[in-house]
Amino acid sequence: MQITVASGKGGVGKSSISASLSYLFSRTFKLVAVDADADTPNLEILLGVEEWEGKEPLPGERVAVIDTEKCTGCGVCAENCPYECIYPENGYFRVNGVLCEGCNVCSIVCPEDGVISFKPAVPGYVKFGKTCFGFPLFTGELLPGRPNSGKLVFKAKQMAREVPSDITVVDAAAGIGCSVIASVNGSDLVLIVVEPTKASLSDAERLLKLVEHFNLRAVAVVNKFDINREFSLEVERVLKNRGVETIGFIPYDRSVVDAVVSGRPPVEVYPDSPFSAALREVAERLKEFL
Ligand code: SF4
Ligand code: SF4
Repeated sequence: MQITVASGKGGVGKSSISASLSYLFSRTFKLVAVDADADTPNLEILLGVEEWEGKEPLPGERVAVIDTEKCTGCGVCAENCPYECIYPENGYFRVNGVLCEGCNVCSIVCPEDGVISFKPAVPGYVKFGKTCFGFPLFTGELLPGRPNSGKLVFKAKQMAREVPSDITVVDAAAGIGCSVIASVNGSDLVLIVVEPTKASLSDAERLLKLVEHFNLRAVAVVNKFDINREFSLEVERVLKNRGVETIGFIPYDRSVVDAVVSGRPPVEVYPDSPFSAALREVAERLKEFL
């Protein structure tokens, strides 16, 4: 079963909740965790991966290269590059490989033969290793400026599927971009994390459009519900109208910050905290979907 923890908005406590649920489920089930936030992966910090066992590149990308020996310096390629990544240097032109999308336009418009060629480029890697709790973690890591975070997440999930497990917990990126689409697609359940603010609710509703598009089952938790109890009820009401049950109200808890600072899942370091009690209830509710 794949449970994807997602939130339309960043900074709502999604990774603390993902790490805590992974820790709790791993006590009873065979678990695999996937960090699908390829732009800023950090589940490894909360789950304590000390050494990666392997790293697989995502193939298939390419970037343009200009042969400066043959380039006449006409600048036609730079004028037509849709990503503005060709720049003059010493009377010739060069390609900024970090920005190049490999679209081929420069090669088509260049009046000279054999000046522009392409070399393979790696947009990112999937790293894998054991967490300090004994279960494996797969992490998609995009290199600076590279596209295709969605393909990277797809590959991370594909590799995770090869490990026999009862539950896969996927920590999605914030927003509704391609890496989030790759994260939620194929999920048995999407756990939407919302804070009781208008911005968080609005972004959660945008995420819901994605969930509805893929016809996925979703439930929600309201994190830090006690910072605005009235609006937490409004969140519950709005989501209920969209067919999403709120299965937990998690209180604001200073110990979560302390746990994150020490790089551990809050439920492990502070098992008796209000956050941990609420998370255990959420985990119990999620088990009903297994
Ligand atoms: S391949 Fe496309 S993006 Fe790359 S340098 Fe050429 S025109 Fe620009
Ligand atoms: S279009 Fe071709 S010849 Fe002209 S600057 Fe670009 S690479 Fe050089």
